[in-house]
Amino acid sequence: MDSAPVALPMPSLGRPEASGPLVLDLTWGGRDYVVRLVDVGLACCSVEVMAAALGNRASRDLRELAHAAAASPVDVLVVSGTCTDTLAPALRRLHASIPGQPLVVSFGACSSSGGPYWDSYAVTNGVDQVIPVDAYVPGCPPAPQALLEGIAAAMGRRTAGETP
Ligand code: SF4
Repeated sequence: MDSAPVALPMPSLGRPEASGPLVLDLTWGGRDYVVRLVDVGLACCSVEVMAAALGNRASRDLRELAHAAAASPVDVLVVSGTCTDTLAPALRRLHASIPGQPLVVSFGACSSSGGPYWDSYAVTNGVDQVIPVDAYVPGCPPAPQALLEGIAAAMGRRTAGETP
């Protein structure tokens, strides 16, 4: 058995090459939508959101699309992961900084209720204590496909005139 050490590359923390919302093409109810989405990725659920974005047919040129959309409004704010009481004011400020009223999707058990960490002194038991939430996606973690279900549910609630 070869016991030589494996040379793993060091991770690097560089500046993102592009900023701005992710752009997703969605088909829902027989209609096509272009949705500009910002994910507040706080923990492991955000990996599923990335998987959903990369699996979207419009996201093959994700970097280019995101760059092009940098000056565009945000349609959907997704919160994925564990929010803490320390972080909550920053989330509130971010939400308030987005013009209009973006749909808000709470993605996963942690963001919806605190998840496995609900009884921690530091964990917010649901981001709806901080910002209005249009739709909750259950799971720990939810499947990537569930993100699109959550967006559709939020769109449906707004279309029906329901506000959080
Ligand atoms: S719900 Fe589960 S997978 Fe998602 S952030 Fe919490 S612990 Fe991680």
